[in-house]
Amino acid sequence: MEDKIPVTQPFLPPQEEYESFLDDIWDRNWLTNNGPLVQELEDKLIDYLGVKELSLVSNGTVALQIAMKALNLEGEIITTPFSYVATTSSIVWENNTPVFVDIHPDTFNLNPQKIEEAITPKTSAIIATHVYGNPCDIEEIQTIANRHDLKVIYDAAHCFGTKYKGKSIFNYGDISTCSFHATKLFHTVEGGAIVTDDPDLQRKINLMRNFGHDGLNNFTGVGINGKSSELHAAMGLVNLQYIDSVLAQRKKLSGIYDHYLKEVDVSKPTIQSHTEYNFSYYPVLFNSEREVTRAQKKLAEANIQTRRYFFPLLSELDYVDRKNTTPVANRISKQILCLPFYHELSEQTIERICKIIKNS
Ligand SMILES: *Cc1c(COP(=O)(O)O)cnc(C)c1O
Repeated sequence: MEDKIPVTQPFLPPQEEYESFLDDIWDRNWLTNNGPLVQELEDKLIDYLGVKELSLVSNGTVALQIAMKALNLEGEIITTPFSYVATTSSIVWENNTPVFVDIHPDTFNLNPQKIEEAITPKTSAIIATHVYGNPCDIEEIQTIANRHDLKVIYDAAHCFGTKYKGKSIFNYGDISTCSFHATKLFHTVEGGAIVTDDPDLQRKINLMRNFGHDGLNNFTGVGINGKSSELHAAMGLVNLQYIDSVLAQRKKLSGIYDHYLKEVDVSKPTIQSHTEYNFSYYPVLFNSEREVTRAQKKLAEANIQTRRYFFPLLSELDYVDRKNTTPVANRISKQILCLPFYHELSEQTIERICKIIKNS
């Protein structure tokens, strides 16, 4: 049996580069509570991404929860059923009601044409995911939000490095959140970020991520513990030095997949125009669920792991109102399969994966 090929694998920098940060951390004995490395990483990310304000937090789920709280969202939130569970679970955790709207058959992102029919007097916001790092129809969503006085949060967990119209994708909406989990393209082991261009909102977010601490003995508003740490920030600082090569490698690997899948009857999402894409995943759409399970089985027999990402739909979770009103998302979630995709993946392995799919 050949070596196991995982569907994803964290990027690890040279160990000694991480260790060189540890000496300083030990010297300072300052491990968390907005230490110098957390501040340095925030500054470097603001600079690298070209965003106005960015707050590091402990993960991408807390980022969503704080974002909703900071915008005082209540009632119904329009969202996509085709995303990772955290997009919906965070809405429910904040005692809001997710209202699922269908996705576009080409981009797999929330379909703006379906949003307005789902708006009620209780709707407070739209939370949309830029699925696989592919930008949503940002202009249309903003037009609808303005017309109905709704807030817009983008779950941009997949989007590190994606640019839309020449700017970081994180610059759009009232707030964008990102995940820096180990399996994401840029990571701090666990971590995340909240991006906004409103300094007052950012001040509120920074209070919220630190228990509401406003000085030692004063609390402003209800808070949570959403802090990052010096050890996490150190991983981010090392990884940030490799980000351009990580992005370039993914583009190259994606091109190799495209080449070997040329004669295979599968398709891929259409990337939004005016986009510099980050190639964060390699999803393929088969023509039927049967084809997906057959390919997945054949690949598993060769010790190659794939993932039905995202299946099932979030509208199938047992804590939401399970109305089935999203036929496009239903179909796509049954036909999608994410293939192995990570920095160390070799061309030979990609060729082998594509041959198995071709013959399945
Ligand atoms: C990874 C992910 C999250 C959650 O991020 P964590 O850092 O793991 O909490 C949220 N939304 C999407 C779309 C994700 O892929």
